[in-house]
Amino acid sequence: MHIDVLFPIDAGSFTYLVPEDISADIKIGARVLAPFRRSEKVGIVIGINTKPSLAPSIKLKAITKVFDEEPLVPDKLLKLMDWAGQYYISSAGIVLKNALPSSLFTGRKAGRQRIIFDEEAAKKREITLNSAQKKAIKAISDSGPGAFLLHGVTGSGKTEVYIRAIKALPDNKEAIVLVPEIAVTAQMMGNFRRNFGDKVVFYHSGLSDGERLSSWHKMRNGEAKVVLGVRSAVFSPFRNLGIIIVDEEHDASYKQFDGLKYSARDVALVRAQIEGIKIVLGSATPSLESFYNAAAGRFSYLELKERIDERPMPDIEIVDMRNEKKALSFSEKLIEKMKEKLLLKEQALLLLNRRGYAPFLICRDCGYTYRCLICSISLTYHKKAGKLNCHYCGSSLKPSDACPQCRSAKLEYEGTGTEKVEEELHDLIPELKMRRMDRDTTSRKLSHYRMVKDMEDGKTDLLLGTQMIAKGHDLPEVTLAAVISADVAFNLPDFRSAEHAFQLLAQLSGRAGRGNKKGEVLIQTYEPGNYIFDYVRRHDYRGFYEKEIEMRKDLSYPPFGKLIRIVFSFKIKAEGERYMKRLSGMIRKREDAGVTVLGPVIAPIERIKGLWRWHMLLKGKQSGVLRRKALETAGAFKDIKGMKTEIDVDPINMM
Ligand code: ADP
Ligand code: ZN
Ligand code: ZN
Repeated sequence: MHIDVLFPIDAGSFTYLVPEDISADIKIGARVLAPFRRSEKVGIVIGINTKPSLAPSIKLKAITKVFDEEPLVPDKLLKLMDWAGQYYISSAGIVLKNALPSSLFTGRKAGRQRIIFDEEAAKKREITLNSAQKKAIKAISDSGPGAFLLHGVTGSGKTEVYIRAIKALPDNKEAIVLVPEIAVTAQMMGNFRRNFGDKVVFYHSGLSDGERLSSWHKMRNGEAKVVLGVRSAVFSPFRNLGIIIVDEEHDASYKQFDGLKYSARDVALVRAQIEGIKIVLGSATPSLESFYNAAAGRFSYLELKERIDERPMPDIEIVDMRNEKKALSFSEKLIEKMKEKLLLKEQALLLLNRRGYAPFLICRDCGYTYRCLICSISLTYHKKAGKLNCHYCGSSLKPSDACPQCRSAKLEYEGTGTEKVEEELHDLIPELKMRRMDRDTTSRKLSHYRMVKDMEDGKTDLLLGTQMIAKGHDLPEVTLAAVISADVAFNLPDFRSAEHAFQLLAQLSGRAGRGNKKGEVLIQTYEPGNYIFDYVRRHDYRGFYEKEIEMRKDLSYPPFGKLIRIVFSFKIKAEGERYMKRLSGMIRKREDAGVTVLGPVIAPIERIKGLWRWHMLLKGKQSGVLRRKALETAGAFKDIKGMKTEIDVDPINMM
């Protein structure tokens, strides 16, 4: 007897012999210990006797141990993982590595989970559903397998719909609830704990390996009924799944940028199909793809048009920054508003989607800009750390007193990041109790949670931060949401930049006025004429969709076509140029019907971590044809030293 074993490494499966004495115990989905190179590794059995005609001359090694009597990984999950490997053009081993907790392969023990959740939320009163919520829940519960788009404006009570839809499942059925980021899970955790007690487990990066493993086993054993987690929770080992919920389905965080470049939302849709169950995608600002799917009848469309208790949507004002004093990040109007809110003891959110103090350090005499030594990226100054940091590779420099190029001392910081806004605001309104929430202040576990909690408890007046403050939080005392500069968002070289800018602004606006008092939103910009603002101001998702979808159609971009992006990186620039020229020639000669090839051209970020980068986009209607072309193109050059090829199916990041 021989078996195919998959390890969590970038490779396919390996075939081993099974010694006679353990043959009978082997099951697909179980872990085994097998000799690998000069040591041993734990892997998962994915096939038994799949190669009947294995030549006797091939000497197979034998596994040495079986860990699980019963399959550890459910069948349908293996099927999903297999699909993911093929669809994302990745090795099965990489899928395994992303899908299962690493502790399963290292033998680390499960750890007890410290329960962190919102005690207050746990005590909240029972909720009487409104009619729109009831209708949505009924539609979901009454229907058979299939996908739903729950399009509910911000503050319309989507969470309650998710909870009731899960409660309506038969007793033995389980649920996966995906949220985009741990920042959002904190409040939801309380909510779910209140409803499902210890039947709910959490699965996110804020947990230790041991804690994650403990959640995993509870799902696998049927002890847990619900998992609330981020991306990788889509691979939860439930065996009786009844429903999948994807909250804030439009969120780009569902896409993983390295390793397995998957979209958890899309994998969730496929999982629902494999399991033959329902899936609910919820958002106030659905992705164009999902709204299009609903419009085309592939998803059932459910709408929550009103906020809870018919609370009004906030008023949105666009502030023209061209008439303001250049020296400050704040308009007169915004300063006035923040002071007013402080007097009224109401809270505010302040968004700037750029962390650090200043994005540039420039020499006024010769124009020199500090750049990363190994990336083509200007360095961001972080004042507290006293360092210039590269946001791509993480390397840092100490700024010098004189320009490295002309020795001038006229070095100036230019542009504004959250750290500088914090400093300015502190000088402007010293009595304001504020917290800053961005990647630099939330590296420690639970820091997100504490910051949101301090807002809930009224210990903070204003929460300043990057896009993470715009996501999902339900803070009833927030009556002002403001954007320091909206311009950062829509000037990216990416066909989705308008969509993402609209979503970010609408989501941030959605944080204001969720309680009894009406909310206000101020959006500062140097480009007040931008069409996005018209739709944002009117809370007009549909209008925005209609406009944007036309553009996508004209260019055959998703949802009208599929995209695969290939990035080639080289140690030596000239070598890259040479190969890319050759590649262009090859492609021109071999045009395939149904595939449009854009590029290769040098990538917007030319160099990362010392490698020079070129990229190309393959565009087409049929994903199978496109994938074949991608494989062929990516495989054009093999075994070239110092070259790296990455394939990204359904790319989000075009940089
Ligand atoms: P969304 O996710 O749609 O933005 P939430 O699910 O966060 O909105 O709900 C907003 C707030 O309204 C929450 O505090 C929630 O507990 C509350 N809520 C939800 N449904 C009801 C209801 N039927 N009656 C009263 N309050 C509700
Ligand atoms: Zn200089
Ligand atoms: Zn760098």
